Amino acid sequence: MDFPCTSCGRCCRQLPAASVLNLGDGVCRHLDPASQRCTVYVQRPLVCRVDDLYRQRLAGSISKRVYYLLQAHACAEMDARNLAMPAEVALQLTLEMRSGGSGVGAGTAVDMEAGLTEAVGGHPAAHRVGVPVRLDPDEAAEAMNKLMAVAATLLEEPAGPQAALPSASMGV
Ligand code: SF4
Ligand code: SF4
Repeated sequence: MDFPCTSCGRCCRQLPAASVLNLGDGVCRHLDPASQRCTVYVQRPLVCRVDDLYRQRLAGSISKRVYYLLQAHACAEMDARNLAMPAEVALQLTLEMRSGGSGVGAGTAVDMEAGLTEAVGGHPAAHRVGVPVRLDPDEAAEAMNKLMAVAATLLEEPAGPQAALPSASMGV
């Protein structure tokens, strides 16, 4: 599975102060104010690409389950329209893992099986298969530190041809 971005665009309006894309009020310089769409979508920076960022910079240090859940929780915090996303992501990853999907990875499969007995969130989909929605606080904090360290190295990255990669899921 790819990360199920809903194209709400909230992350394009809450950029960190240090981002070269930030106009000063958190809004990206590439966000069209009229359409609220990304004007450089095909060439948007790596930091805007959930799946490419994972594959290129984080796959060796964070499980896909934890990465996706951190992303999904952030999306839910930024926009209420994404509140169901963490449970949906956990459900899809669990189904993918159970069907032998290649995208989850062996380490993640073990990680997820161990988590099947964890407490679940309030989303009905989570209860269907006992999907773990909450992350262990220590595991989440460690993964977040790694994620933020990588993201910090990309804050000065402009949009450009380096982003002409096949996968795309973040942004609007
Ligand atoms: S990645 Fe950004 S645009 Fe996509 S759902 Fe999350 S906040 Fe919205
Ligand atoms: S996806 Fe486009 S509009 Fe959104 S932050 Fe990235 S470059 Fe800016």
